[in-house]
Amino acid sequence: MSQPVPIHPEPLARDAEGRPYSTRYGDIYASRAGALGQARAVYLAGCGLLDTPPAWAGRAQFVVLETGFGLGTNFLATWQAWLDDPQRSSTLHYVSVELHPLAAADLLACAEPALRDLAQELAAAWPPPVRGLHQLRFAQGRVRLTLALGDVRELLPRLELGADAIYLDGFAPARNPAMWEPGVLKGAARLARPGARLASYSVAGAICNPLRQAGFEVRKLQGYGGKAERLQAAYAPRWRTRRVEPRAALPAAADRRAMVIGAGLAGAACAQALASRGWVVDVLDAGHAACGASALPAGLAHVRLSPDDDRLARLTRAGIAALRDALPAAGRDAWWRGDGVLLLDTGTDSASRGDAGSVPQALALPRDVAHRVDATQASALAGVSLHRPGLWAAGGIAAAGGLAQAWLSTPGVRRRDASHVHRLQRAPCPGWARSLASGADMTTANGPPWQALDGDGRVLAQAPVCIVANALDASRLLDASGLASGLPRLPLRAQAGQAFIVPAAELGPLRGLRRGILGDGYALPLPDAAVQACGLPAGTRWLLLGATYENDPARPMPAEQAWAEIVGGLQSMVGALPATAPAAARRFHGVRAVAHDRLPCAGPWPDWAALGRLGPAALHRPAYELPPLPGLYLSAAMGSRGLTLAALAAACIATHIEGEPAPVEQDLIAALAPGRFGLRHLARLDHSIDMPA
Ligand SMILES: Cc1cc2nc3c(=O)[nH]c(=O)nc-3n(C[C@H](O)[C@H](O)[C@H](O)COP(=O)(O)OP(=O)(O)OC[C@H]3O[C@@H](n4cnc5c(N)ncnc54)[C@H](O)[C@@H]3O)c2cc1C
Repeated sequence: MSQPVPIHPEPLARDAEGRPYSTRYGDIYASRAGALGQARAVYLAGCGLLDTPPAWAGRAQFVVLETGFGLGTNFLATWQAWLDDPQRSSTLHYVSVELHPLAAADLLACAEPALRDLAQELAAAWPPPVRGLHQLRFAQGRVRLTLALGDVRELLPRLELGADAIYLDGFAPARNPAMWEPGVLKGAARLARPGARLASYSVAGAICNPLRQAGFEVRKLQGYGGKAERLQAAYAPRWRTRRVEPRAALPAAADRRAMVIGAGLAGAACAQALASRGWVVDVLDAGHAACGASALPAGLAHVRLSPDDDRLARLTRAGIAALRDALPAAGRDAWWRGDGVLLLDTGTDSASRGDAGSVPQALALPRDVAHRVDATQASALAGVSLHRPGLWAAGGIAAAGGLAQAWLSTPGVRRRDASHVHRLQRAPCPGWARSLASGADMTTANGPPWQALDGDGRVLAQAPVCIVANALDASRLLDASGLASGLPRLPLRAQAGQAFIVPAAELGPLRGLRRGILGDGYALPLPDAAVQACGLPAGTRWLLLGATYENDPARPMPAEQAWAEIVGGLQSMVGALPATAPAAARRFHGVRAVAHDRLPCAGPWPDWAALGRLGPAALHRPAYELPPLPGLYLSAAMGSRGLTLAALAAACIATHIEGEPAPVEQDLIAALAPGRFGLRHLARLDHSIDMPA
């Protein structure tokens, strides 16, 4: 188990002339002639953004990839040029890899006067120095910055994106050779879309030659600020390169209609993610919005910690960021209270064991991501006396049902209640009918829109993109639609659960609780919006206590037993609680859908027939490289983390559909890939190995 390298904010120094200077690399951050001038002359001009017409003219999306964020001048200059250009693309995506990020205040202090307003926005959104990807949105979401914090040699091979422009920056090759290694340059070429432009201030042979070998046509042009030459290149390999093609942008003229099956948190988050990108989305539910597990009045969403910063820990960090990003602007505070969650030590729960307790320090996690608290500090934060120490972790309380409803109110989303989807199919068309008649596998069809059919075979909805988000029933639906291609069903199991909503005044030691606590069970103060949505008497403080884990949804635990189980756990953290549920208590019962490895299934559904045609070697590809069945996606198996992970799952799906940079690295995309179980089955791997919870 390797310990991940922590990220430390880089202290900013100045050289004798007052220019920003890195003591680590013994070099100044930008050209002596000025950072903004260099950004424009080397990078924007080098990548055709100052041409007539500019490289981004008329495009739906333009993606810049940069190595070395540094002072952020290249990003700010690109953003400013995009704002100033009437021919700009609809959206600008900027992905930058940086191992030693500066602090927000230093970025602002170094900002060029002409870029100061934008720098202020950047500094206000600046993420904590934590390894991994951080997505920031500006200009009403039309400018998206993905900061990839970590070593470029480790991160670049794990990015999932297609780049139209590549800026090779960073300290001089002689000072920081790791940034310019042939593997890094090859890694950049892997992500270049056909015709992508590349620019750098350096023309060292050690850079030009590997770029040529990777398929770039390299030119040396007059340099900037006293440098004799600068580098400009275009990705135009003269031979067929063996590579998985990078993500392509969905064309501006594409039909942006989708249907989502299931109006719980998972489906609602997908609908919101697409509608906020201009899509029209029909959401079909057998009942009505948030009538399944997402009817939960409120629950906890939080980052999870692990000593080796495992996939779940990284997913939950990305999940909380995606949730915050997706919160509806209107009424945001009604559905979300993001003042953290107290994870109290239990001695058994891996999230709060002693070893995980030291994680914030070991990983150099900033205090606003997680920090250790003793019992006194925990009590002060919770507003009640707690018997155990633990961790304060980023996250909060979300009104689950209310949040799903709010997402479904996004303009462009159309709700279709009482629409039970029995089966999916491609819309019949002449070619389609012939292939069916010839017995062709349905999954080989490519093109016609998807249709959702009811039990009588009537078409309920039709769209080029279909997202299956109906929790446990997803497994049946895919099977009934002939999409499992003879593989075992998606291994989802039902795990029922109960929670109680109780007037705080009746809960003795918990009555003053003002923050979510989690250990052996959890307790949280119910947000006012949830009190209202549940039709509970206003003016009373209500707490939600949870939850049971039951394996037979058909035979729920009797209420007394469920109460005893939940309260039994909580008592070890807070002291004696009522032995029986107060008369005013309300009981919530729901069923979670859980996958074998307890991770969600989120992403494109694979084209198993196409995989078969690729031959046995394809079975050893990572799950994110499975050939997708065009237009079909899955977001299910949220388990007991729907609040933490539904928005991230939706972001993964929406970015895949649009061809935008992915919000997480490839290994995390693979961890969520719905085809992972089928792939394991096909590869005859031991699919009984379970991930730790
Ligand atoms: C007691 C309890 C406590 C919990 N506490 C927390 C917590 O604190 N934090 C947390 O993050 N999570 C918690 N969870 C889990 C959370 O509720 C789920 O992860 C989440 O709600 C799952 O959302 P979903 O959209 O995947 O599923 P659901 O909300 O179940 O939505 C699925 C929807 O699909 C619809 N549907 C099904 N089949 C069809 C069909 N064929 N056609 C059309 N529609 C269909 C259903 O009607 C339903 O509305 C808890 C769960 C329980 C039971």
